[in-house]
Amino acid sequence: PFDVLVVGGGPAGAAAAIYAARKGIRTGIAAERFGGQVLDTMAIENFISVPHTEGPKLAAALEQHVKDYAVEIMNLQTATKLVPGTDGFTRIELASGATLSARTVILSTGARWRQMGVPGEAEYRNKGVAYCPHCDGPLFKGKRVAVIGGGNSGVEAAIDLAGIVAQVTLIEFDGKLRADAVLQAKLRSLPNVTVLTSAQTTEVHGDGSRVVGLSYKDRATGETQRIALEGIFVQIGLVPNTEWLKGSLALSPRGEIEVDAHGRTSVPGVFAAGDATTAPYKQIIIAMGEGAKVALSAFDHLIRQVPA
Ligand code: FAD
Repeated sequence: PFDVLVVGGGPAGAAAAIYAARKGIRTGIAAERFGGQVLDTMAIENFISVPHTEGPKLAAALEQHVKDYAVEIMNLQTATKLVPGTDGFTRIELASGATLSARTVILSTGARWRQMGVPGEAEYRNKGVAYCPHCDGPLFKGKRVAVIGGGNSGVEAAIDLAGIVAQVTLIEFDGKLRADAVLQAKLRSLPNVTVLTSAQTTEVHGDGSRVVGLSYKDRATGETQRIALEGIFVQIGLVPNTEWLKGSLALSPRGEIEVDAHGRTSVPGVFAAGDATTAPYKQIIIAMGEGAKVALSAFDHLIRQVPA
């Protein structure tokens, strides 16, 4: 069995595996796709001390750094169930049929942005279609952007972007915004923001290399309208990859793994880090910090166990 078994090979999982292995304990990492969301990212400019890098490059560096240690890497493995044990071991069942057993488990299965599912969205991802205002906002300085979604994250994104870009159009499907009243009031006080409600985005337009506009259907009149712009931030939900954990440990109403300040979950010996958890602000540097932190928590847990 492993002393520490990490499930998920993104920034959080890689950091956790390295921190655990540096304690000289038996460490394994199982991941569906080593690198995680970083693999889908183009420019990364907020990974502090590295002014500019690209996703695939950072993902390769993550993997290489993990390989520098005695970590058993199990890539292309999907965890399907977590079974807390009464014998001091937690078991992780894999889609392959195998079961892994470990004294401590670190869950770092990340999250995925919900997509609009309209023509052009996938084609122009990273070419004007963006999901993270903290990451990509500055790339649109002085340009025109739309934010899709009128919940808290959409309205926060619109307020944030309004300070950077020339013009923001917030597009909400429903008849009204769902964000907190204080955010809506702030939004409406901004001169360069237009709010469209009852508007269904139907297509992302591009010129072959970049986004040039979008179309939406005015749900009140049924008419389709077209807006010229350079960027589209999709803010209709970040979904944690935790469906497989339902019933095994405590999840928030949004499906995030509930963690305390030490990254402990509701199951003793099981820890979690990164975008899959309730820890706020989903970023690479934060996921790495949380991964490092929970590996130290797991080690603290291990040294308190009475030898069997
Ligand atoms: P993830 O990166 O999501 O990794 C999750 C890991 O778990 C993967 O290896 C996955 O395959 C694995 N996994 C999932 N389910 C299972 C399972 N059941 N069994 C086994 N393995 C599983 N952040 C920034 O700081 N700067 C940026 O510029 C930036 N740009 C971004 C651009 C895009 C397009 C996207 C999508 C995100 C961007 N982010 C950026 C956010 C950043 O990528 C995430 O915050 C970060 O990757 C989270 O790390 P994580 O390790 O928690 O999860």
